[in-house]
Amino acid sequence: MKEKIIDIKNLHSQVEDIQILKGLNLEINKGEIHVIMGPNGAGKSTLANVLMGHPKHNIIEGEIIFNDKNINDLAVDKRAKEGLFLSFQYPEEIPGVTVENFLRTSKSAISNEKQGIFAFRKILKEKMNLLEMDESYAGRYLNQGFSGGEKKKNEILQMTILQPKLAILDETDSGLDVDAIRIVSKGVKAYSSDQNAILVITHYNKILDYLEPDFVHILVDGKIVKTGGSELAKKIEEKGYEEFRTDFS
Ligand code: ADP
Ligand code: MG
Repeated sequence: MKEKIIDIKNLHSQVEDIQILKGLNLEINKGEIHVIMGPNGAGKSTLANVLMGHPKHNIIEGEIIFNDKNINDLAVDKRAKEGLFLSFQYPEEIPGVTVENFLRTSKSAISNEKQGIFAFRKILKEKMNLLEMDESYAGRYLNQGFSGGEKKKNEILQMTILQPKLAILDETDSGLDVDAIRIVSKGVKAYSSDQNAILVITHYNKILDYLEPDFVHILVDGKIVKTGGSELAKKIEEKGYEEFRTDFS
């Protein structure tokens, strides 16, 4: 029996009085890896932000059912506690806060359990090793002076520590070299289990070679216009999005 993690129904959203999502439907079950591709400005990051509860984006129609509950009006922090995670396309730098402190505080907040310094450090080291991150990163200020690849790895590290039920990765592969893509994909794949699901937003096929997604969706102009398997990503690589466009403007 498939167990649904999220059911997005007829989602319409608005930002600054402009409608971006225009009737988006998507169901994700436990154990699945889904990929969303689409041209620039299609609404991919908007979808990620709406799912996470970004205050600038308003839902004007439709529903987000997460763990059998409507979360349309739930605040960002509550969504995180329910098990939603978003890795940002452009991670922020936070001077003065170390990676380790940030992750330990986040984990305490989300799990409602105090994280002991030494026990936490042990887990952190294990996860960092898996991502081939030097342990010295734990003591550095969050994302400050990190290369693009290091920032992205740090996002994946955060995911493996927080253990969300649904992880949304917004272009986690952008700006990564081939080795970093392989390591990041390995981390994502290792995290994927029958207890969670992963939604990957990407422009590139490379990550799909490693991730072996169950479904690939094409998002154009605020809607999913086509769903298929990895072959769909190959087709996009060859032919682009032209045939899926609706506006032709
Ligand atoms: P994608 O991630 O698919 O490239 P986005 O979701 O980032 O696209 O953007 C979709 C559209 O929504 C774009 O036209 C963008 O300018 C607009 N948009 C997104 N966020 C905002 C915002 N905070 N304010 C105004 N416009 C926004
Ligand atoms: Mg985007």
